[in-house]
Amino acid sequence: MSQYLNSGHWADQTAEKILREKGEKETYVCASGITPSGTVHIGNFREIISVDLVVRALRDRGKKVRFIYSWDDYDVFRKVPLNMPRQEELAACLRMPITLVPDPAGKEENYARANEKIIEDLLPRVGIAPEYIYQSGEYGASRYASQIRLALEKKEAIRRILDAHRTAPLEEDWWPVSVFCTRCHRDTTSVLGCEDWEIQYRCSSCGAEETLDLRKTGAVKLPWRVDWPMRWKEEGVDFEPAGKDHHSEGGSFDTAVQVVEEIFGGAAPVSFKYDFVRIKGGKGKMSSSLGEALGLDEALEVYQPEVTRYLFAGTRPNTEFAISLDLDVLKVYEDYDRCERLYWASGETEKEKKKKEKEARIYELSQTGEIPSRMPYQIPIRHLCNLLQIFAGHGDRVIAFLGDVEEDQIPRLKERCRCAWNWITRFAPEEFCFSLRSPAAGIPEMSPPQAKALFLLHQTVKDRMAALGEKDFSTCLYDIAAQAGLESTELFSTVYRALILKDKGPRLVSFLYVLGREKVLELLSPWAASGLKGRDFS
Ligand SMILES: [Zn+2]
Repeated sequence: MSQYLNSGHWADQTAEKILREKGEKETYVCASGITPSGTVHIGNFREIISVDLVVRALRDRGKKVRFIYSWDDYDVFRKVPLNMPRQEELAACLRMPITLVPDPAGKEENYARANEKIIEDLLPRVGIAPEYIYQSGEYGASRYASQIRLALEKKEAIRRILDAHRTAPLEEDWWPVSVFCTRCHRDTTSVLGCEDWEIQYRCSSCGAEETLDLRKTGAVKLPWRVDWPMRWKEEGVDFEPAGKDHHSEGGSFDTAVQVVEEIFGGAAPVSFKYDFVRIKGGKGKMSSSLGEALGLDEALEVYQPEVTRYLFAGTRPNTEFAISLDLDVLKVYEDYDRCERLYWASGETEKEKKKKEKEARIYELSQTGEIPSRMPYQIPIRHLCNLLQIFAGHGDRVIAFLGDVEEDQIPRLKERCRCAWNWITRFAPEEFCFSLRSPAAGIPEMSPPQAKALFLLHQTVKDRMAALGEKDFSTCLYDIAAQAGLESTELFSTVYRALILKDKGPRLVSFLYVLGREKVLELLSPWAASGLKGRDFS
């Protein structure tokens, strides 16, 4: 149980609001959902994790919670996403339920399932485990028959609610349902009439004309603005957030509140609006129909799970923010690490305590499972990136080099190594990257003063590096520059060229010490022999 429940975190505030508005209940239902009609991207993930954080806040208060995640996979396939292969084949399935569209990759039973599976496989990695509800299955089993009948009976009342928020009124022959033709599976149908449990339709694609029994068919579906409030009632939803498009004035949330109360006799859940997530460097709002969207899987290639959660837990949902793949990745890790140190710090002033409470709660909510029994291994992310580049991406070797990582700290540090290496190799700016000069790369040209400096450095490393500390060694570098007749900036660029074939690199002295005496001597060896011809230098 958390001791930071009163830190004012937005998830705790929402939990309190739910308890206040919904009163004492045995189980609270928190819901989230999406149409799996494209890759579920990091913007959609904001809804899932927003619910997860509120679910945790409720559970931290000793409440029983049902976290349901609805796959709206009985929605109609309206548009072929541009980033999908087999465009023509997909286009032939337009107007069918997305569960009847084949998986373009040919792996899963259908297109919706393929998109669902990616997320279902990933969510446990970020500590999220909802109960999935497949709307194709619910509709298919005629589970909503009574509610559909109710909506048909109250058709005119629904029309009035929706029309009040529309610029043009609904068509005269509008019905609060759509029917998937049982012969061609398209929703290109018109309802001809209904009575009790029966509904008649005609299909304009294949000409089928049929009467269906709502209790036995899965072909009749409610439209979004009626379906959403129907499920609030059916599932007893106490909390469900929504994107700002749904939460706009007269948007589907507003009408759903009226529909659930006036048509289905239920109550609207507590809700809040969450804003968009941008990709830094990307353009505007992410949409799953755009190829440029960042998948949760891609985010997890760069951000370890706790840091991914931290990004969302540390930002109020109604604030737009950007996920960075550029240099800011380092800053995010540094912020997370600071938050972690604060959580594990002891002994503080009142003012520090207040600040700590806030950060500590964010830290708790960022964990994927139990909070570790002690502080995870901390290493500045920039330093880790340098070490990884020195050890060519081998996390195991970095951990061995560090020498003081305890057994239980290894898995998390390994994951961080994996993410940092992905970032270095795929997203880091060129000036940040380096690799040690290999013998195959040849020996860079040096002027006589430069060669002399490298010779002197080789000698200093060989004779004195072990005895000197980093600070004294730093003084030696300036002496070497003076002796060789180089400006210190030129000395530095000379050494970097000898080591990594670049003019700049990580902070030099620390870099030399991390490399270690033997490795530095090996890299400087082409200039070690030049010392025999010391007189040529002048
Ligand atoms: Zn048809």
